[in-house]
Amino acid sequence: MLTILRRIVLEFSQASELDQALLRLVSQVKNALSTQCCSVYLADHEKQHFILMASNGLAADAFGRTCIGFTEGLVGLVGQREEPINIANAQQHPDFIHAPEVEEEHFKAFLGTPIIHQRKVLGILTVQQEQARFFNENEEAFLVTLSAQLATALASVEAQGMIELSHSNQSLGKNLAGIGGSPGVAIGEMIVVHPKADLSKIALNKVSDSEQQLMIFDDAASRTVAEFSQMSEKLKAIISDNSLDIFDVYKQLLESDNFKAEVIVKIKSAWNAQSALKLVVDSYVMQFESLDDEYLRERAYDIKDLGNRLLNNIQNLAEHNQQLPEQFILVAEDVSAAMLAEYQHLGLLGIVSITGSNNSHTAILAKALNIPAIMGVDYLAIRQLHKKQAILDGYACQLYVTPGDALINEYRHIVAAENKLYAQVKEEEHLPASTKDGHNVSLLINAGLSAGFEYSQNVGADGVGLYRTEIPFMNRSCFPSESEQTVLYRQVLASFADKPVTMRTLDVGGDKSLPYFPIIEANPFLGWRGIRITLDHPEIFLVQVRAMMKANHGLGNLAIMLPMISSITEVDEANRLINQAYYELTSELSCDENDVLDRPQVGVMIEVPGIIFQLEDLAEKVDFFSVGSNDLTQYLLAVDRNNSRVASLYDFYHPAVLRALDYIAQKSQQRDVPLSICGELANQPTGALLLIAMGYKNLSMSAHSLAKVKWVIRHVNYHQLKQILERVLSFTNTSDVHSYMHEQLVSLGLGDFVHARLQ
Ligand code: PEP
Ligand code: MG
Repeated sequence: MLTILRRIVLEFSQASELDQALLRLVSQVKNALSTQCCSVYLADHEKQHFILMASNGLAADAFGRTCIGFTEGLVGLVGQREEPINIANAQQHPDFIHAPEVEEEHFKAFLGTPIIHQRKVLGILTVQQEQARFFNENEEAFLVTLSAQLATALASVEAQGMIELSHSNQSLGKNLAGIGGSPGVAIGEMIVVHPKADLSKIALNKVSDSEQQLMIFDDAASRTVAEFSQMSEKLKAIISDNSLDIFDVYKQLLESDNFKAEVIVKIKSAWNAQSALKLVVDSYVMQFESLDDEYLRERAYDIKDLGNRLLNNIQNLAEHNQQLPEQFILVAEDVSAAMLAEYQHLGLLGIVSITGSNNSHTAILAKALNIPAIMGVDYLAIRQLHKKQAILDGYACQLYVTPGDALINEYRHIVAAENKLYAQVKEEEHLPASTKDGHNVSLLINAGLSAGFEYSQNVGADGVGLYRTEIPFMNRSCFPSESEQTVLYRQVLASFADKPVTMRTLDVGGDKSLPYFPIIEANPFLGWRGIRITLDHPEIFLVQVRAMMKANHGLGNLAIMLPMISSITEVDEANRLINQAYYELTSELSCDENDVLDRPQVGVMIEVPGIIFQLEDLAEKVDFFSVGSNDLTQYLLAVDRNNSRVASLYDFYHPAVLRALDYIAQKSQQRDVPLSICGELANQPTGALLLIAMGYKNLSMSAHSLAKVKWVIRHVNYHQLKQILERVLSFTNTSDVHSYMHEQLVSLGLGDFVHARLQ
């Protein structure tokens, strides 16, 4: 049954025509359950009814025509109750409605299950039978499981607008929704880059150029073998030999005559390289999955992985010669921070990422670069977007594909209005960040991208509160040397010569990876990240802090910050290494009393919740605290900041997060430890005001947000903020915090900033 179920779902998600896919689906389900009728209804939420889309058993004339209101009939009842309904004799049920055009008079037994995606009913799947009987438990379980799996595929079909388009005359462009990554509007051509290779999403295709396909496959196979060798070489230093055996298994499989020969045979019979690979991998997977031996069954996973790696190389070869237009919107399955670093200079207007969420590092970097972005766009047919025109609305989190002229004009007006408002706040950017009643705070910038750096110096910042050193490490093929790092850090420190610059030691892992230092983990955000990696690799840590201190020689404005600290031992070890580097350098640079090498201040990021309960211990060891509210929120709420499925649960204004931030501020004040915050919360006018009221004196944010945050601060009274905070900290629900803050900003005369467009 499981194999049948998988096959039905797989075929459904690979189909390109919705109507055909639904027809095949109902026939397959009818056969699988040996019943006499299977039908599928899809919801039209605007019109509040279900439409009979396909059936094997009901009259074909009714497809696309028969509509059942959300509160009508048995289908409506399944939708309303959001649970399966199993009835022995439907016609005797009080909710049964007779619809003569579907010709169902002879059916008595009825089983209907809702198809629900993210709490939204997308449709209803029903089976019917002439004999009056209840469907048995296995039949019900099959239909429920199938509906749950179909939901994801259907949601993406809905996102593609195919449901509406297939039964109406609308010719509007598609409108795809996502999660806000970075505000702003981009209008331009979309370029789809390196979709994450996934054999299960490949549609089978035949071609006439078999010779070329053979070359592509051969080349991809050699590249994949080479990659495995490189990977296992690089990982040798980090993980045990046993764990590396898997690479040998992959290489052997790839070089085995059977596997390659089978793909070649398929290519010779006119399948393109991707299809041939898919057909062979699928048949191997089926064989392995049907074996009794558990170990061998698990090898199916290896074969799938190998297939995807090969596919990746086949696709890269096909895209290799792609010419980029002068300006473009980058679309990819998973736009990584490294990809952003790679494309930012090449005319990047905007970003659309199928995966990811609003606080992933890609989104943070996009904000820092002022590039509009939307993440988590639930869309499977990503390749269809290639070279199409689009409007990307990073405020409303919408992507309009092939928009009409009227919509483009409307958006040009939005951009103009936004620019006007921004010009207004820019007028005050060089004035002090001081409230109307004279409470002063420092506004600093988060930096790390060389391209944004020049811009950052002119925004009226009081220094750099967070320099993310990992970004310059990304777009390279090996770790930068000590002298390369020294030059880079010197540039940053010299640009802010009279102002403090806080440099964070390398914080990779989680959703930030280095191409030359792969970290493969099941749970990366809880794994080998930040300080955990650099303490395990003192040679990387020492080179970096030496470079920082060398760059600081003669300037003296450096502070070093340690990421992801979760224990006092880590601080002790890091301090020991920093001291070692300091003493080595003092003697290497032959410093004397006239030429002193400054020992920089050392602080820690407060972003792992556990360490909040050791702030007093920490206060003994470090010079300052800086709250990383992005990770702190993720770990406090147990919500992956990068996962679009739980994005709505990730909220800085959750009472637990706000109370934790307030507690940190109180503890720091008690112990007299300088405190700053460098997470995204400080970028938001609402967040900045609450933080100031809590006692945060140093707010670090993206350069682009600084002017608007400063403007807001300059137009409020500190004593009012204190009252607002007191009320906010009494709320038990996130939604209450949002609505109260919304009202307060309006009554403080900051209406424009309440509008999502400037938040
Ligand atoms: C944070 O976690 O808030 C932070 C500033 O660090 P990053 O976003 O780089 O993890
Ligand atoms: Mg962090």
